[in-house]
Amino acid sequence: MAKQQSIDPATGNVAFEIEEHSPAEVEGRVALAASAAVAWAASAVNDRAELLFRAADLLEAEREDFGRLMTQEMGKTLASAIAEAEKCAAACRYYADNAARFLDPELVVDHGSEHGEVCYQPLGTVLAVMPWNFPFWQVIRFAAPAIAAGNTALLKHASNVPRSAIALEDLFRRAGAPPGVFQSLLIPARRVADLIADPRVHAVTLTGSEPAGRSVAEAAGRHLKKAVLELGGSDPFIVCESADLDRAAAVAVTARCINNGQSCIAAKRFIVVAPVFDRFLDRFTALMSTLRVGDPMDPDTDLGPLATPAIRDELDAQVTASLDAGARRTLGSGPIPGRGNYYSPTILVDVPRSAPAWSEELFGPVALFHRVASLDAAIELANATRFGLGASVWTAKIADARRAELGLDCGTVFVNGMVASDPRFPFGGVKASGFGRELGVWGLREFVNVKTVRRFGLER
Ligand code: NAP
Repeated sequence: MAKQQSIDPATGNVAFEIEEHSPAEVEGRVALAASAAVAWAASAVNDRAELLFRAADLLEAEREDFGRLMTQEMGKTLASAIAEAEKCAAACRYYADNAARFLDPELVVDHGSEHGEVCYQPLGTVLAVMPWNFPFWQVIRFAAPAIAAGNTALLKHASNVPRSAIALEDLFRRAGAPPGVFQSLLIPARRVADLIADPRVHAVTLTGSEPAGRSVAEAAGRHLKKAVLELGGSDPFIVCESADLDRAAAVAVTARCINNGQSCIAAKRFIVVAPVFDRFLDRFTALMSTLRVGDPMDPDTDLGPLATPAIRDELDAQVTASLDAGARRTLGSGPIPGRGNYYSPTILVDVPRSAPAWSEELFGPVALFHRVASLDAAIELANATRFGLGASVWTAKIADARRAELGLDCGTVFVNGMVASDPRFPFGGVKASGFGRELGVWGLREFVNVKTVRRFGLER
C-alpha cells in the first residue's frame, strides 16, 4: 500500500508517514458512516450541540499542540496556526449555539385546518475533499454545520497533511462523537470519484483547485449528488484616491502574505488609481521588503516556507514566464537557496495580459500591481478574471464603496478591511471560484433536505 507523508516544509525532513487506507478499510468506514447516519439523524439537536461544545473546548485547550502540528505539516507560522485552532473552536461554538434555531421548522401557513411548514432534515453522509492550506479550519467549517445538521462526515484530506486528518478524527472521537459520525479516509485523489458514486454518500464538498473542482463536479453531476465547491481566487485589492494609504498598504501586505501567501482569499492583484499609484506602491514595497522570512516556529518570523517544493517551483515558473512575457519585477529574487521551500517576497508591475500572472492564481508571496485611471476602470479590471471569490476596496467615500459593492463580481466585498471568513457570514464564490456557500445558516442549509410539509383537516 502507498504511504502518505508529512514533510516539514521548513527542513524537508519526513516528520511522519502512514499507510493509505486499503479498499477494504475504506469500505468499512463508508459502511460505518452509513449506519451511524441513521441514529445521528434521529439524535436531539442539543446532543449534537454538546458534541460541538466539547470539540471547541478541546481545540482551545490544545491549541498549541494543534498549532505545532499544522506548522510542522504545512509551514504556516506558529502564531497563525494557534489562531486557526482558536477560530475552529469559535466556529464549533457558533454552530452549537445556533443549530437548533437554524434547524427549527419554519411555519408558512397556519390557519383553520391548514398547516404548512418547511423542515430541515439531514441528507445522510457528506464527503469532504479538503486542502492543506488551512488544515483544521477548512475541515471544521464544513464539519461543524454538517454534523450539527445530523449528517455523518467522511474527510478525504490533502495527501500532504495526514497528521491533521488523523488529529481531526481523534478530536471528534474524544469530544464524544459516536463511531462513524466523523472519519478520515487516507486515500489519494484518484479514489474520490468512486466514493462520490457510492450510494451511501449523499453529497460532496470540495475546497481546492479548479481542476479538482471540475473532476468532483463531474462525478457529482454524473451521479446526481449535491456538491459545494470552494475553489481558487485571484482577489483584487482596489485603492481609490481618498484611501488612507498607510493603513491600506499595511493591510495589503498582510492580505497578500497571509498563510505564507497561500490563501484562496489572499489579495493577489493590487489595482490602484493613477494619482496614488506610486505613493501606494512605495509604502507597500517598504513593508514587503522588511518581512522576516524564516523558521515558522520562530515568533519573529513573518513569512514561512511554502507547503511543498512543487508549490514553490510552480510559483517560480509562473513568475519566470510572466517576466518573459514582459512583466517587471521590482522586488524579489525567486526561491531562497538552502533548506526549506522559501520564496522571497515579490512584486510584479506592468503585467501584460499574455502573462500567466494576469490570468492564473499565484499561490505564494507575489503581488501584482495594476495602474488604472478611475474606480470604474478598477472594477472592470477586477472583474476581468475567471475567478470571483473576494475583493477589498479602500476609500473614504461611501459612494465609491457602494459602487464597488454592487459592481464587483464575487462572493465577498470588504471595504477598508481585509477579506476574511467569519462563522456568521456566508463564504464562497462565483464563476471559477465555485458555487454554494459555507458558514452561517447558508453553510448549514447546503447539507439538508429542505422539506415542504403541508397538512389539511387535522387537529393540531
Ligand atoms: P488541490 O490540489 O485541488 O487539492 C485539494 C484537495 O482535492 C486535496 O484533498 C486533493 O487530494 C484533492 N484533489 C486533487 N485533485 C483531485 C481530483 N481530480 N479529484 C478529486 N480530488 C482531488 O488544491 P491544493 O493545491 O491542495 O489547494 C490550493 C487550492 O485550494 C487553491 O486553488 C486555493 O485557492 C484553493 N482554496 C480555496 C478555498 C476556498 O474557500 N474557496 C480555500 C482554500 C483553498 P490530494 O492531496 O491527494 O491530491
